[in-house]
Amino acid sequence: MSINPAPETHHAPALDEWRNLHIDQHPQWADHPDFTNVISELEAVPPLVFAGEVDRLRSQLAEVAEGRAFFLQGGDCAETFEGATADKISARVRTLLQMAVVLTYGASLPVVKMGRMAGQFSKPRSSNDETRGDITLPSFRGEMVNGFDFTAESRVHDPNRMLQGYHTSASTLNLIRAFTTGGFADLRSVHNWNKGFTSNPAHSRYESLAREIDRAIKFMDACGADFNALKATELYTGHEALLLDYERALTRIDSRTEQPYGTSSHFLWIGERTRGLEDAHVNFLSKVRNPIGVKLGPTTTAEDAINLIDKLDPNREPGRLTFITRMGAGKIRENLPAIVEGVQREGAKVVWVTDPMHGNTISVPSGFKTRRFDDVVDEVKGFFEVHEALGSFPGGIHVEMTGDDVAECLGGSDPVDESAFADRYETLCDPRLNHRQSLEIAFMVAEYLSA
Ligand code: PEP
Ligand code: MN
Repeated sequence: MSINPAPETHHAPALDEWRNLHIDQHPQWADHPDFTNVISELEAVPPLVFAGEVDRLRSQLAEVAEGRAFFLQGGDCAETFEGATADKISARVRTLLQMAVVLTYGASLPVVKMGRMAGQFSKPRSSNDETRGDITLPSFRGEMVNGFDFTAESRVHDPNRMLQGYHTSASTLNLIRAFTTGGFADLRSVHNWNKGFTSNPAHSRYESLAREIDRAIKFMDACGADFNALKATELYTGHEALLLDYERALTRIDSRTEQPYGTSSHFLWIGERTRGLEDAHVNFLSKVRNPIGVKLGPTTTAEDAINLIDKLDPNREPGRLTFITRMGAGKIRENLPAIVEGVQREGAKVVWVTDPMHGNTISVPSGFKTRRFDDVVDEVKGFFEVHEALGSFPGGIHVEMTGDDVAECLGGSDPVDESAFADRYETLCDPRLNHRQSLEIAFMVAEYLSA
């Protein structure tokens, strides 16, 4: 007979406690005539992910927390409905797989792969409004909230967009599942794509690493490795759990465990702007079983981190909590050590991930928001230095990237300069690493990991 405490059931009011708390960055749409119907519909649709997959991810992230696996997260800052095409999705999946092969070799560890995909449709903003000339309108908050076009009509917060977000996520996830199990992920093809990257003279410094991988694959082949078994891989999904109306409606009680799971994606994270300890986002995410991330910006103290652990991971369960630090290249070496030391003193095993993008955003005079590749690289370096000095495990990287040949971040070995922005700057929100810049980061991280 078990005397375990009764699991929470769907009668548990706790899942709605957030409704009474302060909430930042949330859309104003509760009075919209369609709001109630949209929520009922979302409560009835099939889950996008299965709770068993979520549990599997949590146990793989526990391996990362213990230093036995590495974690790669990447994708758009803001996905778009129009961008959910086969070509764009396959380019992103392909780039993530290419990065993962290089990292697997560099770390000599399994790589847990995750797309900021199939749900990354809402954005926190620094200002509620945007002014152009003498017109002020509500800011664009991601296509699951309002439209990018600068018109009053498009900027209305429309709950019907949550349904389009759900369906676009479903079709994106379907293609991801097809690609990762249908042969597209074959290790030999992925490696061949990487040979294309290193054959570009700009990337010749990575040729020797690519040759080593080549030899390793030939060696495996000669030993009779079953490459058919290596044709399939797992690619998890994750997004910022900003829209609690959406996340709550897609939360389901798992019949196996009787626990609540967010089923909009495997992994959910809390942004830097909504991580208030007593606020709605932290409260809601403390109730679901998914592995949770929290972005930690440059003002984070050790105490903040410890308080977040107490709220989100009270049982100190490895794999439950990921801290995604985004300090900025100039600050990481100064600010991160105290946080890591504080967490170490608590005896908590979090996954440490670097997001080298969000602390390094600048505006250039032409008005574009961009990031310098060198700053991104420098923050990654600082992250590795700090963890090495403190004996903690640098568990992963989180990047805004795309598989396309965009020009949004400056620099790289095959450099992007500002003159290309006019034609190839496509993001609706933050600037992303393009295909080549993403692979370059992966090769560089692989070099640190193998050093
Ligand atoms: C993001 O990941 O796009 C984002 C807004 O990040 P942060 O919460 O770290 O600012
Ligand atoms: Mn972003």
